Amino acid sequence: MDIYDVVVIGAGPGGLACAIKAKELGLSYVILEKGTSVFQGIIDSYPKGKKVYPTIPKAETGPFPIEDLEPSHEPVEEYVAKINACVEQHRIAIQLGEDLQDIVKEEKDFRVVTGQNYYRAFNVILAFGRNIPVDLGVYGDAKTVARRLDNPEDHIGASTLVLGGGNSAADIVAALSKAKRAAEDETPVYWAHRREQFKVDKDVARDLGEEILLGGNIRILQGAIPVIGDVDKDGVDRLLIGVRSVDYDDGMKLHKGMSFPMKHVIACIGTRGPAPVFARLGLRQEMVGKAGKETKRIVLTPGFQASIEGIYAIGAAISPAYVVIEEDGTLERQKHVDLIFTAVSDGVQAIEEIARRK
Ligand SMILES: Cc1cc2nc3c(=O)[nH]c(=O)nc-3n(C[C@H](O)[C@H](O)[C@H](O)COP(=O)(O)OP(=O)(O)OC[C@H]3O[C@@H](n4cnc5c(N)ncnc54)[C@H](O)[C@@H]3O)c2cc1C
Repeated sequence: MDIYDVVVIGAGPGGLACAIKAKELGLSYVILEKGTSVFQGIIDSYPKGKKVYPTIPKAETGPFPIEDLEPSHEPVEEYVAKINACVEQHRIAIQLGEDLQDIVKEEKDFRVVTGQNYYRAFNVILAFGRNIPVDLGVYGDAKTVARRLDNPEDHIGASTLVLGGGNSAADIVAALSKAKRAAEDETPVYWAHRREQFKVDKDVARDLGEEILLGGNIRILQGAIPVIGDVDKDGVDRLLIGVRSVDYDDGMKLHKGMSFPMKHVIACIGTRGPAPVFARLGLRQEMVGKAGKETKRIVLTPGFQASIEGIYAIGAAISPAYVVIEEDGTLERQKHVDLIFTAVSDGVQAIEEIARRK
């Protein structure tokens, strides 16, 4: 197996900047992206038609560090199309559907472990943004549970479970119900939340109410908790959720649950920052900020190297701030604006640092 000079985690603006610069400096590299597309993070988080601005942070001056990645006030769909053309033109090496699980230090290099494979590299750049999905927290494996609704038609003819108590979950429930109704499919959409109360905005609630009144087959499960991810005797990945438990006098409990094939489960349970991922990888973080409002921030050298030599972190993953460690060991909080410009500039600098150390 080849050992890459650098494996980049995430094909956002930061990850692509790393790839373009690595190619220019003659470093071998591959990008691992967990989504099905380049710029998956942007595709997932920008509203349709949103204009993408080439904003430059106050403390910086132009030009944009890599011209091909510069947005120009165009709608996000056009920007993503332009980026896809750029990926083709630069022949950027990307492996899609590769979700980082672990980075293991070997004698001279790292073993970068994803859900299905592993890769070897002398350096790893974490460019995975800030939208790390909240873990389902179940016993066993639940990796094949979807986090968004790609195609409602995929759920026609099967009971579908939507997990989560907020607006995004409600939108998915309404969209699924509408698609099933249009196809005259009577299978229900179960909407489950671990709490008793769902929290949605008025407009979302109105759309959902309308969907129910029009005949949508929506069943609500309050206090429903995902428990086990399992494979059944037919080899189907299933998710078991507990829906009720009844106490008996002698300490026994009667549990009621429901089990769904994971391909018909959509978990809309939010995202969190990357601090727990940095902790899992053993990277140093320090508490910074005003008393009572301290937050954990990753510690990096001025060249974006983390506390384990050869691991770097850039872009939105280190926004809105990180801690710079100088050569004499002094620590200083560094603001880091969450912008495309910043992610691209970080990527260029991290690769230059890797090339310098090679
Ligand atoms: C609604 C919205 C509007 C914005 N508008 C603008 C704007 O107009 N102009 C501007 O300059 N900035 C804007 N921003 C900010 C800008 O989008 C970010 O600064 C930029 O996307 C950060 O790039 P990144 O490469 O660091 O992270 P991301 O773009 O988040 O890319 C990270 C990539 O890593 C992948 N990934 C995550 N976890 C894993 C894993 N475990 N394994 C493998 N891959 C993984 C993700 O799927 C994603 O594709 C906006 C942000 C939002 C949310």
